[in-house]
Amino acid sequence: MTAAPIRAPRTPLLHVRPSGVHGLGAFAAVDLPAGTKLGRYTGRRFNAVQVAAMDWDSTLTYLFGLSDGTLIDGGRGGNEMRHLNHACEPNCEAREEHGARGRLELGIHTLREVRAGEELFLDYALTVDAAEGPGDYPCRCGSHRCRGTMVAVSTEAA
Ligand SMILES: [Zn+2]
Repeated sequence: MTAAPIRAPRTPLLHVRPSGVHGLGAFAAVDLPAGTKLGRYTGRRFNAVQVAAMDWDSTLTYLFGLSDGTLIDGGRGGNEMRHLNHACEPNCEAREEHGARGRLELGIHTLREVRAGEELFLDYALTVDAAEGPGDYPCRCGSHRCRGTMVAVSTEAA
C-alpha cells in the first residue's frame, strides 16, 4: 500500500439535477476552464471474459468499454459521472488514463470552457451489435449538427 494522498478541500465541480435533454443531467457548479478533470468514471469493473458472458441490453448507456477489453458499468456503484448525458457536440470527453498500479481508468475532462450552470455532455459514441441499429438509440440533443443517434458514426466504407 502507498500512503493516501493529501486531499484538498472538495469543492464540487458539478451538480446532478433534472435535465431538459434526458432524465438527470450533470451541470457545472462553477466556471470550468477547458481541460478541467471532473473526475473518474467509476462503477463495477468487468473483464473481457465476464463481458462476453453477460447480457448487457438493459444498462447499455451506463457502460464504458476500454481499450483493454474491460468494461465499467456506471449503473452499478458508479459516481455522478454517469449522469453526463449524450450530445453530438459535447463539451466533455472521456480519456483513458493510467491510474494507481497502472490500471486503465477513464477520466472525464472538459473540452472547452464551460460556464457555471451549463449542462455537461459526452459523445457516447455507442457501439451496437448487429441486431440493433443507430435508430434504436435516437439522439435529441438539439445541436444543429445532431447526427440523430447516440451510436458512433462508422468510418468504414460500406
Ligand atoms: Zn445529437
